[in-house]
Amino acid sequence: MERNVSRIDLELVRQKVESLGLVPHIFASAQRTTIGITGNKERIDSDLFLSMAGVEDVIQVSKPYKLVSREAKLEDTVVKVGKDEIGGRELTIIAGPCSVESRGQILEIAGILSDLGVKFLRGGAYKPRTSPYSFQGLKQEGLEYLKEAALKTGMHIITEVKDTETLSLVAEYADILQVGSRNMYNYSLLEQIGKLRKPVLLKRAFSATIEELMMAGEYVASQGNYQIVFCERGIRSFDTITRNALDLNAVPLIKKLSHLPIVVDPSHGTGAWDMVLPMAQAAVAAGADGLMIEVHQDPTSALSDGFQSLRPDKFKLLLERLARLAPLMGKSLSAKSAPSLITNN
Ligand code: PEP
Ligand code: MN
Repeated sequence: MERNVSRIDLELVRQKVESLGLVPHIFASAQRTTIGITGNKERIDSDLFLSMAGVEDVIQVSKPYKLVSREAKLEDTVVKVGKDEIGGRELTIIAGPCSVESRGQILEIAGILSDLGVKFLRGGAYKPRTSPYSFQGLKQEGLEYLKEAALKTGMHIITEVKDTETLSLVAEYADILQVGSRNMYNYSLLEQIGKLRKPVLLKRAFSATIEELMMAGEYVASQGNYQIVFCERGIRSFDTITRNALDLNAVPLIKKLSHLPIVVDPSHGTGAWDMVLPMAQAAVAAGADGLMIEVHQDPTSALSDGFQSLRPDKFKLLLERLARLAPLMGKSLSAKSAPSLITNN
């Protein structure tokens, strides 16, 4: 639509889309409003809309994914989470343990991370483990502890939703729903999440092409939830020397193909704590909007993924490095000094 389109012209176009039996998707950003149209079986005649007041242009999206594509919306999408955002000027840092293990553990680490200026607390309560005999998470009890940590620190909670059965419960506690790598192809879960109006972090399956990741995002967007953040977390390769191969091609590719933000998870992407800092830096240099990092106060006793978790002092060093690097990429990050933290560098 034209830059200063009136509400009435916008509404008339919306009604026109519906009268054709199609679905309008309104994307309003600071610069302009775009209306995505889905539900058509064949090409829509552009002239139907070009003749309407307030319409600047009609673009036929050539990609199989429509609403998440850059063609559908030129401006970057900024996902709002409370008063904070993902995909804006500030580099987003999501940090926390792989799993919520106890009340004391999550409250302590949340306090440390919050003192360091971290606004997004991660922690799994429902864990999709490779072995059914491994720790499966504290489930609702874990969600309660996350909530308590959020209330105490003002941080936003991001936690994984494993299935449609627990979606409404997890959505009550989470500020951002995480869809794990193993669930990227769970289309019923994606559709259900699409019916909510809550931000979602969609992790790339370790076997997924970029196009399949885009299509997974499209499942969510097709239901009206456009608050999607993609996450590159490493893919399987022939080389098993690292847990995964962190595919940083994904960052500039997704920036080109989609208007949605992309964050990188170098913890799962490498599976080795001593590779997290260099690959986090590489992700920022590649243009990522943020990072998801596993941090644990005592990785040797962690119930999951201790080998790839950073101790708080190493995490603090990572933040300091990123605070220097981010401005070169047009991002900002204010690393706070946490005086309580003993550093050895
Ligand atoms: C996680 O973030 O703890 C996790 C299970 O990640 P992924 O789904 O990427 O394996
Ligand atoms: Mn993990």
